Amino acid sequence: TTAPVTVLGLGLMGTALARAFLAAGHPTTVWNRTATKAESLVADGARLAPTVGDALEAGGVTIVCLTDYPAVLDLLDDAALEGATLVNLTSGDSAQARETAAWAEKRGARYLDGAIMAIPSSIGTAEAVILLSGPRPDFDLGALGTVSHLGEDPGLASLYDVAGLTMMWSVLNAWLQGTAMLKTAGVDAATYAPFAQQIAAGVAGWLPGYAEQVDKGAFPAEVSALETDARAMAHMVEESEALGVNAELPKLIKAMADRAIAAGHGGEQYPVLIREFERP
Ligand code: NDP
Repeated sequence: TTAPVTVLGLGLMGTALARAFLAAGHPTTVWNRTATKAESLVADGARLAPTVGDALEAGGVTIVCLTDYPAVLDLLDDAALEGATLVNLTSGDSAQARETAAWAEKRGARYLDGAIMAIPSSIGTAEAVILLSGPRPDFDLGALGTVSHLGEDPGLASLYDVAGLTMMWSVLNAWLQGTAMLKTAGVDAATYAPFAQQIAAGVAGWLPGYAEQVDKGAFPAEVSALETDARAMAHMVEESEALGVNAELPKLIKAMADRAIAAGHGGEQYPVLIREFERP
C-alpha cells in the first residue's frame, strides 16, 4: 500500500527510511532541523515541510528518527500531536519508550515505539529488521524491511533490540576468543571461521529445547550436567592462560557456572544458569 508518510529527522538513518518510502511509491513528506539534508530527497520527489507542525499535518504515519529520546521530546514538546500517529524509531531503552508513549498518548497521539536492527544501506530490503511495539498498527511499513509487531507494551521493541545486541556481541566475542587461541598455533581467522560457524549454528539449534526448560523452570540433565560442562570450562580458562591470550571471557563463563554449582545446581542442565542472569 502506498499511504502518505512523514519522516522527521534526516540523518543517515532517517534519509534511508525516507528514500525507501519514496522508492515504494509512498507520498513522502520530510522535515529536518538542518533543511539542506532534505535536498536530494526533494529532488527524488519528497515534499519538504517548512515546519514540524506542517509536517505533522501532512496526514498518515509520522516516523521519527533522531539522535536520542531527549531530542525527540525537545522537538515535539511544542507540537500539536492530537490525532497524530507517531512511530518513534529512535534508539533508546524500554523505560524511555514507555515514558514517551505515556507522554504522547496524554497529548492525544497514537504512539508506537520501534527499533531498527539494520544499517542504513539495508533499509528497503528484507534484511532490515524493524521492530514495533505499542498499539497494533493498521498501516504498512513494509517498504522499510521486515517489520514485526511484538506486542502492546511500548517497551518491547527496545527490549528485543538490546536482547538481540547481547546475542550478537556474545557470538562475536566467543569467535574472537577462539580465533586468538588458534592464531597462536598459526591457524588464521579464515581457516577457523567455517568451524566456528558450524558450532554457532549447532548451538543456536539448541535454543528452542532449552527455552522449554527455562519456561518450565525444570532443568533435567538430558544431555550433560553442569558439573561436566564446568570441567570443560576449566580447560578453556587454563588453555587461554597458558597461551597468553585474554582469559577474561572464559573466566566469566566459568565463574557463573561455578556459582550455580555452589548453589546446588551441578546435576542440572546448562539453562539452569538463567537464575544467575535473573538475579546478579
Ligand atoms: P545522525 O547523527 O546521522 O542523525 C541524527 C538526526 O537527529 C539528524 O537528523 C539531526 O538533525 C537530528 N537531531 C538531533 N538532535 C536534534 C534536535 N534536538 N532537534 C531536532 N533534530 C535533532 O544519526 P542516525 O540517522 O544514524 O541515527 C538516528 C537514530 O537511528 C539513532 O537513534 C540511531 O541509534 C538509530 N539507528 C541508526 C543506525 C545506523 O546505522 N545509522 C542503526 C540502527 C539505529 P540535524 O541534521 O539538524 O543535525
